[in-house]
Amino acid sequence: GHDVHIIGGGLAGSEAAWQLAEAGLRVRLSEMRGGGDTTPAHESDRLAEMVCSNSFRSDDASSNAVGLLHQEMRRLGSLIMQCADAHRVPAGSALAVDRENFAQEVTDRVQKHPLIEVVRERIDRLPEDGLTIVATGPLTGSALAESIAEKTGSDALAFFDAIAPIVHRESIDFDICWFQSRWDKGDGKDYINCPMDKAQYEAFVDALNKGEKTEFKEWEKDTPYFEGCMPIEVMAERGVDTLRHGPMKPVGLDDPRTGRWPYAVVQLRQDNALGTLWNMVGFQTKLKYGAQKEIFRMIPGLEKAEFARLGGIHRNSFIRSPELLDGELRLKAQPNIRFAGQITGCEGYLESAAVGLMAARFAAAEAKGESFTSPPPETAFGALLGHITGGAEASTYQPMNINFGLMPPIPGKMKKANRRLKYTERARQAFDEWAKREAVEIEALEPAG
Ligand code: FAD
Repeated sequence: GHDVHIIGGGLAGSEAAWQLAEAGLRVRLSEMRGGGDTTPAHESDRLAEMVCSNSFRSDDASSNAVGLLHQEMRRLGSLIMQCADAHRVPAGSALAVDRENFAQEVTDRVQKHPLIEVVRERIDRLPEDGLTIVATGPLTGSALAESIAEKTGSDALAFFDAIAPIVHRESIDFDICWFQSRWDKGDGKDYINCPMDKAQYEAFVDALNKGEKTEFKEWEKDTPYFEGCMPIEVMAERGVDTLRHGPMKPVGLDDPRTGRWPYAVVQLRQDNALGTLWNMVGFQTKLKYGAQKEIFRMIPGLEKAEFARLGGIHRNSFIRSPELLDGELRLKAQPNIRFAGQITGCEGYLESAAVGLMAARFAAAEAKGESFTSPPPETAFGALLGHITGGAEASTYQPMNINFGLMPPIPGKMKKANRRLKYTERARQAFDEWAKREAVEIEALEPAG
């Protein structure tokens, strides 16, 4: 027997299982991968597989809302953060990880926990009773998606995300490319840079515009892109300079051969601990595979590039949470069911895990007959939850990353940098007060940095 049933062992479901088990509750975790099913994006049977980038983004807790959420998660004993910290790879001020070792450790720790039973099975219907957390992610199996749509009286919304290509380092030409992070941040050389002059850049944009793209099916045509994951060729289409002001911006990068910033730059970021695989930053795409190889080999230094994985495109589904869920992430129409992760309309590995953590805390309190109030909106957790469970406009609801814009504004005139510091200071204070008030155990703040 179990106290809580979690459906989906991704970033959110793994975190939720861990939190519940650490609270002393018995968990059944149903994951369809490894049981004869998979999704269009996953490549392994590991829990918490990262399907695209290997980054949890900024780890700067003093001036970035993402870094602040990292910190709050660490203080609440997040499994995802513990495993991410253990398998970190260099990425300037970002927290990037070796994706295989990261997911393997999450899998091992969840499977070995005495209170968690991992069952490799697909669930096709929402359970009628028993405390349940649905964390099936943006690629929720279609039978379950239908069952959810039925229960919520609405269609699951759908849009597309695209995957960036990954290059073998040994195929990169270092007579042309060089190691440097923008403005020499972090280690100073966490990225590989490929420089372009004006003629090369214009030819590249032209090739992107002409390249053969994956056809849209009729029902897919109205599906909007999420701005943070827009395909490179869609950016190219918007104007010749769009890429040069976006993922290909050259500022802060000095080409050692000229001592100057190039006209445009393609950056690659380390993708595994060995440093053998590098992903093309911001280069998600729906170009056909043949076109990708041809066009990306026009990039100086990548003429002989070998690709470990090419870019791709995928469906994403999420529910209209602000309308359908209560403040504790429960489905109003059937309160034994909670939702967590990207299916709630948060966006990102980190945010998904964070919502999983909170869903578990609510469920644990409910199972034990205790009360639990979520952190206040001044905190990163509170801001994210508030947005999902009521802050956002339901009719235009779009996936959202954590950002300061979800927190109550700080009044008065001040420099942007100062305002950021104020946001995070206020958040830390609010978090500490909340923990005290709710008698929640938290880890001490780690030393700055
Ligand atoms: P997932 O991690 O997808 O976990 C859901 C789990 O549920 C999966 O293991 C799946 O197998 C399982 N499952 C699904 N249906 C069933 C069922 N019926 N029964 C049993 N099990 C089921 N975020 C970023 O931060 N950076 C990125 O670069 C990024 N790229 C993305 C690229 C793509 C193609 C997609 C689709 C998403 C991307 N995201 C990215 C967004 C999002 O952060 C991730 O998808 C994240 O993994 C979501 O976490 P989750 O736990 O909600 O879902």
